[in-house]
Amino acid sequence: AKQDGRNNFRFFTQEMQARSGRHLELVNALRYALERDQLQVVYQPQIELQSGRVLGVEALLRWHHPEMGSVSPAEFIPVAEETGLILAIGEWVLRTAVSQIQSWHERGWNTLSVAVNLSAIQFRHTDLPGTVSQILRESRLAASFLELELTEGVAMIDPPGAIAIMNDLHQRGVRMAIDDFGTGYSSLSYLKKFKVSKLKIDQTFVRDIGSDPEDKAIISAVISMARSLGMRTIAEGVETEEQTAFLRAHQCDEVQGYFFARPLSAGQFEQFMQDHT
Ligand code: C2E
Ligand code: CA
Ligand code: CA
Ligand code: CA
Repeated sequence: AKQDGRNNFRFFTQEMQARSGRHLELVNALRYALERDQLQVVYQPQIELQSGRVLGVEALLRWHHPEMGSVSPAEFIPVAEETGLILAIGEWVLRTAVSQIQSWHERGWNTLSVAVNLSAIQFRHTDLPGTVSQILRESRLAASFLELELTEGVAMIDPPGAIAIMNDLHQRGVRMAIDDFGTGYSSLSYLKKFKVSKLKIDQTFVRDIGSDPEDKAIISAVISMARSLGMRTIAEGVETEEQTAFLRAHQCDEVQGYFFARPLSAGQFEQFMQDHT
């Protein structure tokens, strides 16, 4: 047992060193990612279940480093947050996504909207409404085509502060969605005060639709609650026909997932639209 203990200790130490080595590497590399053109925004279609129409896209960030290869946002977003780099990167994502949508509007796909993910840091430490308005003005895109996604956690850190920012954005015409809904602990009374137009049902519930009756019950409860509060619902991580059928039967408004389309480069998305309209 003593031997095991020592081995374990050594193992964990090595793992921690490896982790901090990787961590340092990410911190250093991320500083240059923007200026060296290593970041890319991809777009995953969001489809209205009733009509089959593509209503919009979610903008998702990608990082391709010349040596490390592709680094997942799940790994580098936390690093971007802790270094503060998320402010510049997040603003770049907003500007890129908004100007891409505007150019798709000019091309005739003029009902498409774009959902952009916001980190807690962006939400709390900048003049977010001012920045958003400026970016929309630059691209001459109407605010109603932009939706900002934030998690329950972001809103619940400081509910009065969050409500003030959301009111401001709402007054400017920007829509808001709660991401990963069901995984946090937002209270229903706050949900009503947040100026949220859409709930995104987390993919962990969607994933087990075929096997877990509780997840089915949660999804149908969320959909009817959203409806009674006047909010739309979108299910994410939809991968199968069976999940789609369940969501349709329970009148979920929109779906997003590999069953319909993966996150696509701008060029791939244009091809997708040509094939689907
Ligand atoms: P998220 O906002 O919940 O995004 C959904 C994730 O699910 C994306 O992962 C997407 O590629 C993936 N996904 C879509 N359809 C399916 C499906 O059918 N099955 C499965 N298994 N997965 C699916 P991705 O792109 O790796 O992003 C991971 C997370 O990183 C995002 O989760 C979001 O929290 C964060 N993120 C991505 N882009 C940004 C960004 O521009 N800003 C901020 N702050 N966070 C971002
Ligand atoms: Ca999201
Ligand atoms: Ca999500
Ligand atoms: Ca489950």
